[in-house]
Amino acid sequence: MSIVELYTDQKKELRLYITNAREIVETARNLHHSLPLATAALGRLLIGTGLMYCMEKSERVKLTVQIKGDGPLGGLLATVEAGDLKGYTINPDTETLIKENGKLDISGGIGHGRLSVVKDFGLKEPYSSQMNLVSGEIAEDFTAYFAESEQTPSAVALGVLVDVDGSVRQAGGFIVQLMPFASEETISQLEKNIATLPTVTQLLEQGMSTAEMADLILQGLSAEKMEEKMIRYHCNCEKERFIRAVRGLQKEELADILAENKPITVECHFCDKKYEISIDELKNNG
Ligand SMILES: [Zn+2]
Repeated sequence: MSIVELYTDQKKELRLYITNAREIVETARNLHHSLPLATAALGRLLIGTGLMYCMEKSERVKLTVQIKGDGPLGGLLATVEAGDLKGYTINPDTETLIKENGKLDISGGIGHGRLSVVKDFGLKEPYSSQMNLVSGEIAEDFTAYFAESEQTPSAVALGVLVDVDGSVRQAGGFIVQLMPFASEETISQLEKNIATLPTVTQLLEQGMSTAEMADLILQGLSAEKMEEKMIRYHCNCEKERFIRAVRGLQKEELADILAENKPITVECHFCDKKYEISIDELKNNG
């Protein structure tokens, strides 16, 4: 369970969404048994998607953010609905790539590719938007998405620090968005604050709370807390859904499975749970 807090400034010219998401990212790592590069990449995507979800006015939205790249991670996806967040990386056991500065090379793991965002409000057509990745570092790609698709100037920071034993030591992030009527004074103060800000994981390593981080990001602008929302890593998969999916396969594929006359095993991408489906269960249309 992680709390996403919303802050504004005294003049209500911006919104800041901030979270400490260590528990969510560590849960994802435990379920997927991921190695550090995938842990950090998926962690950043989960945090960004969770923050974006909390920015939606309607809590009934199902939000999915997918990254498809030509790097060794093979792409990743995060989706959230009713505060339940989940995700996966195609190759969670990708070997660690390190940049010259000693940090995990997330963009090298992702490669060149596309970012897509789908918002499903349960109405006719879901809203969907796609763009080329700017850097593959994920936070910068979210910033570009907000600028291009939603015409909203934003600053996005997403960070995951993986410990020497592979567990998640720190994870968190924030998104600040300026209102269209924001004054030059507020904009330049915010820019100054962001330019000198350490990374999110450095702040968390110093033992800072999200409230203290919000004060630092909105220094000179008087941060005011507005509300908070809960998000958690949770997969609600059910055997019945997998049975329906297998029944929905192409005729030849399904015929092959039935001809084999052996139970099949399917695995959930989001929680790695395995389900054994018997031939009787496949045939039974109950
Ligand atoms: Zn599942």
